[in-house]
Amino acid sequence: MKDYYATLGVSREATPDEIKKAYRKLALQYHPDKNPGNKEAEEKFKAINEAYSVLSDPDKRANYDRYGTEAPQTGGFPGGFGDVFDLFEQVFGFRSPGGPGRAPRGEDLEATVELLLSDVLHGAEKELSYQRLVNCEACAGQGGKREPCRSCHGRGVVEQVQRTIFGNVMTQAPCAACRGRGYTVSETCPACKGQGRVRREEHIKVQMPAGIDENQLLRVSGMGNLGPGGPGDLFVRPRLAPHPHLEREGPHLVYRLKLGLAQAALGTKVEVPGLEGPIPLDVPPGTGHGEVFEMEGKGLPYAGRRHRGNLQVVTEIAVPRNLSDRARQLLREFAQETGEEVAPEGFWDKLKRVFKG
Ligand SMILES: [Zn+2]
Ligand SMILES: [Zn+2]
Repeated sequence: MKDYYATLGVSREATPDEIKKAYRKLALQYHPDKNPGNKEAEEKFKAINEAYSVLSDPDKRANYDRYGTEAPQTGGFPGGFGDVFDLFEQVFGFRSPGGPGRAPRGEDLEATVELLLSDVLHGAEKELSYQRLVNCEACAGQGGKREPCRSCHGRGVVEQVQRTIFGNVMTQAPCAACRGRGYTVSETCPACKGQGRVRREEHIKVQMPAGIDENQLLRVSGMGNLGPGGPGDLFVRPRLAPHPHLEREGPHLVYRLKLGLAQAALGTKVEVPGLEGPIPLDVPPGTGHGEVFEMEGKGLPYAGRRHRGNLQVVTEIAVPRNLSDRARQLLREFAQETGEEVAPEGFWDKLKRVFKG
């Protein structure tokens, strides 16, 4: 797991001001403009920005402190340079001139992986298939034969001079003829219909960590659509398959134990179907409806920790229906013994007949 505090060289108790100071210092030191062609510095610069994007946001920081991850967000903080420089600009108030990678990154994608409760318990490697856009091999991603745009002479922008009350104002706008690309495509590639990208089926394996939450997205860097500025990311969303007996509540598991009237009143021994096998439970006499027995450490792991939540056994007392004549008779005797007032024999049958006409 990434340690954002270590990346910025601050303590976990650092104030927002200290975090910002540390970020400013490191961001300037590792800025790609100061380290041209230095891959290591580039990675470090990205890491610093990612750390700062989380730690500078109180919500994201709280989430990170609690779960060791930033808040789930489909947009995510992309590894791409575009957003890194946006952040840099926010803090420093200027955009570094000529920063690399301003070409747009490919789009981020989302895929769903179905998990069993046992996968959440142990962590699991899951195979996943999805489609993404990659460079068309037939035209090497060019979309056809490229020629410099005649309207803008390959610059992608056109200028217009307007006379205003302030004097002559020059306006720059993306060239309409080539949509700002600076080139036009002739002899359109039939394989990608001139798009330069084609859809491809990907099969990848992802490691789902133990304790992963359904609201937590897992980012697979660089596995999104390909764009001129590099690939976007793939966000994997876990979805829990229903379990026949157990429900998940965060790190806890809930089991609804159905008890008969006599079992609840007199006590019983049952077996609770735990995730790793049956667990015996003594239900004491006089157990009520909605009582909870906590089985400590029999739940799911907290994300990124060894510690496990509980298995909570919640009682549900089933009132018997469709009684046999003898069982009804015994209940009447029971009611007489305990002084409970019950409807006289045959009362409900009569009533039913009245309603049915
Ligand atoms: Zn043009
Ligand atoms: Zn093509």
